[in-house]
Amino acid sequence: MPTIIIMFLLNERPPALEGRPFIKERINIRDTMNNFLRTELWPALLDILFPLSCLGCSTGLQGRQEIAYCPSCLQDVRLLREPFCTTCGKPFDGAAGENHLCSYCLKNAWNFKEARAVVRYQPPVTEAIKMFKYQGKMHGLATFAALTRQYFRHQPHPQPDLIIPVPLHVKRLRQRGFNQALVLCKKLFPYYKNNIDAHVLERHIGTQPQTGLNSAERCRNVRNAFMVRGPEKVKNRRILLVDDVFTTGATVNECARTLLRSQASEVNVFTFARAII
Ligand SMILES: [Zn+2]
Ligand SMILES: [Zn+2]
Repeated sequence: MPTIIIMFLLNERPPALEGRPFIKERINIRDTMNNFLRTELWPALLDILFPLSCLGCSTGLQGRQEIAYCPSCLQDVRLLREPFCTTCGKPFDGAAGENHLCSYCLKNAWNFKEARAVVRYQPPVTEAIKMFKYQGKMHGLATFAALTRQYFRHQPHPQPDLIIPVPLHVKRLRQRGFNQALVLCKKLFPYYKNNIDAHVLERHIGTQPQTGLNSAERCRNVRNAFMVRGPEKVKNRRILLVDDVFTTGATVNECARTLLRSQASEVNVFTFARAII
């Protein structure tokens, strides 16, 4: 079976098809293959060919499971739970009671209304995100989506008019080949796929990576880096800004500032992971 699939992928004719009209068969094989790739059978076949392993330690996992972490690694995958800061979403470790403002948000204002995240940005999640973001390995996405569904069972669900992924500068997009924030939007909010707009907010200034910069440097680095294309699309709309990781919040805060200047009614932030610094 795998040999035939590989031959189909290479557009080779398996021996069983020898002697049939060539051109017609090539077209039919391609159509059949495309149809097959769209079915549920394809991921099932991949599971047989490439068994699932833990995203944290690569231990082989038994059968199909929603969250690809072994029991040991799963203990360190920490879903963010209340109580947390009402604005920036920073969790209060070991605390009980109501959500309230953290010491940073008591003194500083954000342009977004609320920032929320699914998990803490710590191992083993860190590695899975880096593999996805920097190596283009998409096999962790199903796990990210499953963890997000789990998170929403305990937290209110956002109801935005528009979902906007934090944009990459065109040069970075060409280097990477994809915008990780857009991929996450589609995977984490499949029921809102018609509300996702990856073009209305543009990163028109190429900035140096935020990694390694402190909070003030990060703010300066992204200042005026974004612009809105078609302000009428964001005017009076409730916007959910999506990114992979919330670190200092400098990037999403600058995006929110840019969107509010185009008269968005409200900007909230949703990231898959949250660094606790
Ligand atoms: Zn593991
Ligand atoms: Zn806060």
